[in-house]
Amino acid sequence: MKILIADKFEAAGLQELERLADEVSCEPELKDDALAQRLAEFAATVLIVRSTQVTADAISRCAHLELIIRAGAGFDTIDTAAAAERGVRVANCPGKNSVAVAELVLGLMLSVDRRIPDNVADLRAHKWNKKEYSKARGLKGRTLGIIGAGRIGSEVARRALAFDMKVLYYDVLPDACPAEHPDCRRAEIDTILANSDFITLHVPGSGDTHHLINEAALAKMKPEAALINTSRAGVVDQAALERALRAGRIRAAALDVYADEPPADAKTFAGTIADLPNLYGTHHIGASTEQAQLAVAEEVVRIAREFKASGKVLNCVN
Ligand code: NAD
Repeated sequence: MKILIADKFEAAGLQELERLADEVSCEPELKDDALAQRLAEFAATVLIVRSTQVTADAISRCAHLELIIRAGAGFDTIDTAAAAERGVRVANCPGKNSVAVAELVLGLMLSVDRRIPDNVADLRAHKWNKKEYSKARGLKGRTLGIIGAGRIGSEVARRALAFDMKVLYYDVLPDACPAEHPDCRRAEIDTILANSDFITLHVPGSGDTHHLINEAALAKMKPEAALINTSRAGVVDQAALERALRAGRIRAAALDVYADEPPADAKTFAGTIADLPNLYGTHHIGASTEQAQLAVAEEVVRIAREFKASGKVLNCVN
């Protein structure tokens, strides 16, 4: 088994893979054509990626490739259909970073409500503005709308309930239930839009979720409500969101993912949405805690070990 890792990978996991495989090459900078070339040249049987795109072209150029492991939950960066056509299996690591993303969502909610980033920025500039920052609404008793009640949505629900918030959720799966709790109720999307103080999105980036939150959906939100998106950029019509924020149509938005997101190693962010004072943006760091990365690396090793031992692909998505 020859493993090519085309992304950053946790050191303890790398050591385990080195014990398991005949050869492991960790080349975090590989992408695009260089990835396709290196895959073929190294004759990799297993490819491990985190955010690196894996195209149909890259897959077709490596005759030895049998398995692609996505070191994370979402797999919309991999052409799974092209992989299936060539008999290459794709596996992911679901649920391993759910808590990390949920913790970020709670952080963003508190950031919006108490305007913590603005407080900090002003204090760093030696400004004191107690009057301005004493206008928070508080979270207790407020309604959090969760769209997509899967792994991350459920972790968010549990944490919001611990803050004594009321949770309204919607999921396409009729029996999805993020938490058995009297303050956690299922509702239609329109009810969620009209009644929530915060709306957080936890649906996949593929399928029918493209621009799920568009101009019309934003218009249904309460003016004092805020939108949080840590799922995938395409779920929100970012141009419409920017217009709503500029017009003060909704209170704020908190984003971890962007339509115009720069590559992971970029040093600047050009998007004009960053200019808005009611946008609380993080740098696509939802899954990036030490705990989550360790858990993902352990899962990657488990998938590779099972594949070597039995040929079985755990968490196969294609
Ligand atoms: P999951 O598969 O466990 O849950 C997704 C849920 O969405 C499922 O219950 C599914 O039934 C539901 N769903 C699908 N289409 C829907 C629709 N149209 N309307 C309502 N519900 C719908 O996935 P997860 O692990 O909770 O991940 C959720 C999202 O978070 C994904 O987009 C993933 O890529 C993203 N994510 C982001 C980061 C980050 O760094 N910001 C990290 C991990 C995951």
